Amino acid sequence: MAVTPEQQAEIDALRETPRQTLRAVSEGMEAHLYNAIPVLDHGFVRVVDYMGDDAAICQAARVSYGRGTKSVQNDEGLIRYLMRHWHSTPFEMCEVKLHVKLPVFVARQWIRHRTANVNEYSARYSILDREFYIPAPEHLAAQSVVNNQGRGEVLEGEEAARVLEMLKRDSNLAYDHYEEMISTEDQQGLARELARMNLPANIYTQWYWKVDLHNLLHFLRLRADAHAQYEIRVYADAICKVVADWVPFAYRAFEDYRLGAVTFSAQMVDCMKRMLAGEEVTEENCGMSKREWREFRANFE
Ligand SMILES: Cc1cc2nc3c(=O)[nH]c(=O)nc-3n(C[C@H](O)[C@H](O)[C@H](O)COP(=O)(O)OP(=O)(O)OC[C@H]3O[C@@H](n4cnc5c(N)ncnc54)[C@H](O)[C@@H]3O)c2cc1C
Repeated sequence: MAVTPEQQAEIDALRETPRQTLRAVSEGMEAHLYNAIPVLDHGFVRVVDYMGDDAAICQAARVSYGRGTKSVQNDEGLIRYLMRHWHSTPFEMCEVKLHVKLPVFVARQWIRHRTANVNEYSARYSILDREFYIPAPEHLAAQSVVNNQGRGEVLEGEEAARVLEMLKRDSNLAYDHYEEMISTEDQQGLARELARMNLPANIYTQWYWKVDLHNLLHFLRLRADAHAQYEIRVYADAICKVVADWVPFAYRAFEDYRLGAVTFSAQMVDCMKRMLAGEEVTEENCGMSKREWREFRANFE
């Protein structure tokens, strides 16, 4: 179960009691506020609070540019200009606080993004629920043969069934022992902070994660990318939809200048110039490594 009945009751109560405010609100974000978006088999992401909107980005930028912004008068044009020229601080004027429920191995990747504030569920204080991420059959893939950090063909038949069975059995066995160790029936009971070390990395944890829009977009660029692991990418994809509703101008600029954009090295630019001048540029005469040439060519396929 992604959201407990108690959590859902709290969400319903919060959404039933709107309050008047003098603060700027984003209509798109108001529709998301508090609601849990399901991710993976038991996870979710939900907006707990936010600050700012597209106008807040422009307001901050106009402080620095003043009258100079006349040339980029409309808000979307200004935001596109800021994004294009890596003028990032106006995007830091917007903030979002998310409540995320995610498997521990996804949390390990997520926590590497240091420019956020985090408060995690304490497994020293509380008992973790018996909830494990078990991949859907279509995501149970073999090791990639071309990328050491990726996955390839989907496992099928007897192998897929055996792997799924092992994942479920091991998770439950580890949890049975966890429960047995912390139980105080006829024994002292091991401390929760120690018993948890027996739990697998596919168990779910929860945290509050607060980040400004600039750093959130950086996170999304890395984690909504095809190179990111599927299990974190689905969270990033869900957050992308929220951001698109929250700050539509900023999100469109982000899609254009970051998410869908590519970076060329000076050597690549030189190759493109030679190509445009009619020269036949090949792997042999491009001056790049095999891999770099392959990556360069992939941009045009
Ligand atoms: C596809 C993929 C594969 C990865 N593989 C691995 C892996 O194999 N092993 C591994 O360990 N990690 C791996 N990572 C994690 C990666 O190296 C980064 O740690 C992670 O993406 C966080 O990025 P960040 O540091 O830019 O983000 P943040 O921590 O949010 O930082 C944002 C920016 O702030 C600046 N910054 C923040 N803190 C500091 C600081 N202390 N000093 C200087 N500048 C700072 C940097 O400019 C940084 O880019 C992988 C990430 C991805 C997306």
